[in-house]
Amino acid sequence: MKTKIKQTAIASLAGLLMAGLISCTKENGTTSSSLETPVLEVTATGTTAVSIAKLQTVLDPAFTYDATELELLLTLKEEEKLARDVYTFLALKYDNQVFSNISKSENTHMNAVIYLLSDYGDEYTSVLAAGEFTNPDFQQLYTDLTTRGTESLIEGLKVGALIEEMDISDIVKDLESMINANVTLVLENLERGSRNHLRAFTRQLTVLNTVYSPVFLSAEEYATIISTPTESGKRYPVNANWRMNKRNPSCLLSNG
Ligand code: MN
Ligand code: MN
Repeated sequence: MKTKIKQTAIASLAGLLMAGLISCTKENGTTSSSLETPVLEVTATGTTAVSIAKLQTVLDPAFTYDATELELLLTLKEEEKLARDVYTFLALKYDNQVFSNISKSENTHMNAVIYLLSDYGDEYTSVLAAGEFTNPDFQQLYTDLTTRGTESLIEGLKVGALIEEMDISDIVKDLESMINANVTLVLENLERGSRNHLRAFTRQLTVLNTVYSPVFLSAEEYATIISTPTESGKRYPVNANWRMNKRNPSCLLSNG
């Protein structure tokens, strides 16, 4: 399975390289490329991962942030980690693939944030062990949500929906004042991922005849999301200088 994922990533990267090569040898001699790529990988069940290989082709080469942006990225990194760690915990409790599948994709969301921070050194890119957080709010949420999720499968699925709607609500606020193009691009895709995951958890609850009541989103916002189909993700222009974006990926965490 791991090898297959690796092969897929290499194949898509090779595809981009070939397409890039074709655009460079166009007869009119233009060097600009109309090549576009999505950065999300979405399965039939709505599990939505970020491809770092594709992400690096569309980001601006400058990975620099002001103090507010840095603070936001550090919080975002732990918020994605919270989702990953709670779902990993629930995957061990319940025989329902939704938790293990989505926990793996949350790891790619966290890696996308770590990738943006990769010029800032270990103190920014490192993460604590599973279930451990530097932010006390996330530490408390981890305890509360894993405790609640242990009660029953339905409570576990509601915890999933709660995390996703909280993430959407926070990302919408983050995007309001964000001017950094790289941070905006990652936030937009994490939000898209969260909408797909909210739809996925809601579908599981519907199967169990359970109606979810949103806490962070309004009833209207929630209804709009769950009544619309899974999103495959926007396509972004490949940056002509994308090779400058290749950072040392050793800081990224494997899906385990
Ligand atoms: Mn996420
Ligand atoms: Mn999610």
